Amino acid sequence: MEMENDHGAHNYHPLPVVLDSGKGVHVWDIEGNQYFDFLSAYSAVNQGHCHPRIVGAMKQQAEKLTLTSRAFFNSNLGKYEAFITSYFGYDKVLPMNTGAEAVETAIKIARKWAYDVKGVPPGLAKIITCEGNFHGRTTTIVSFSTDTDSTGGFGPFTPGFEVIPYDDTEALEVALKDPNVAGFLVEPIQGEAGVYTPSDDYVQKAQALCEKAGVLFIADEVQTGIARTGSLLATCGNCSCAGHCERQSTYAKADVLILGKALSGGAYPVSAVLADNEIMGVIHPGQHGSTFGGNPVAAEVGIAALQVVVDEKLSQNARQLGDQFRQAMRELIAESDLLTHVRGKGMLNAVVINDSPESSTAWDLCVALKNNGLLAKPTHGNIIRFAPPLVMTEDELEACIQIIRKTVLEFTKDANQQA
Ligand SMILES: *Cc1c(COP(=O)(O)O)cnc(C)c1O
Repeated sequence: MEMENDHGAHNYHPLPVVLDSGKGVHVWDIEGNQYFDFLSAYSAVNQGHCHPRIVGAMKQQAEKLTLTSRAFFNSNLGKYEAFITSYFGYDKVLPMNTGAEAVETAIKIARKWAYDVKGVPPGLAKIITCEGNFHGRTTTIVSFSTDTDSTGGFGPFTPGFEVIPYDDTEALEVALKDPNVAGFLVEPIQGEAGVYTPSDDYVQKAQALCEKAGVLFIADEVQTGIARTGSLLATCGNCSCAGHCERQSTYAKADVLILGKALSGGAYPVSAVLADNEIMGVIHPGQHGSTFGGNPVAAEVGIAALQVVVDEKLSQNARQLGDQFRQAMRELIAESDLLTHVRGKGMLNAVVINDSPESSTAWDLCVALKNNGLLAKPTHGNIIRFAPPLVMTEDELEACIQIIRKTVLEFTKDANQQA
């Protein structure tokens, strides 16, 4: 911790625990203490820590060929591209590494599509985004952030974006009247903002409005995708997906789908943009790329990570455990005035602490949870996100619920005694 403090940029404020190993739903610190991981590296580790099939695929490929760049073909990329496009039901994929890169890629595709296909005059393409969004940390992406920590001191910003309220289809309808709109970029649930879960029909309605206006519906499922919310995607647009999801009220297929995080099960940076030919076809050689995007290790890791999701029925598990978790939290909220409410879907959930966002209560509660063997992190001050790996069993979740219950009830008592 001292070395990080002395030699690393202070761009994070980690909980005081030093992790050394992980397996499934557990991580261990350097002293050998075991914890349930309730962050899953911001939903990158949906398949559990060090999943043997994913690590196995990575090791095997790492000993054979790691990087060719896209200057040449490699014997893994085509296989991965065929696999992932059939898995999600799209014609084409553009492979990248991080979530932010995939979002940047989607923005470029949408702009190019607006000029080449829709006929927007040069330089005027506009992308609509939502208040409270989180799409990554690049200069262009923070240009449309409404979080002052993300934007303060980083201007000048990239033009061409309009921000409208989230979960507001009337505002979207008004914004879509501009004929120069290329796309609407949206998270089906706003994860970083504090697991803001919109109305059940929001995503479906927004998709329909975009379709009517001739605007690309761009879903950022970097955090919500890959079984996290109880279906393969939170937009759940692909019901040819034979068992990795069940149809939901939020059924809406994105024109441009952005994935990252759990696309590798947390083993490696792997992200992707998926779209059909008439959209992806606007990108030609030399117009976009990445040295590491689509490398052989990423390709093998991506296939293994997606196969685990189906074989281990992670969507179904996330859905069942999510119901169990929120029910338990509602019971706890009724018993303790420390928590005000719980929200979320599948295993992407958050509880709101009964204190101001400026207070240290959520942080202190996370430290207390850590001391009782469960790791979670506050987001936006008074909100705690609960998002464990999806390979958790019902019994394990019950044990976690007991840790949360005990910690919250003791914390309430301690606070009352101090008062
Ligand atoms: C994490 C996240 C990103 C950015 O991913 P990075 O890999 O950190 O660049 C983008 N969009 C959403 C919704 C995210 O949760």
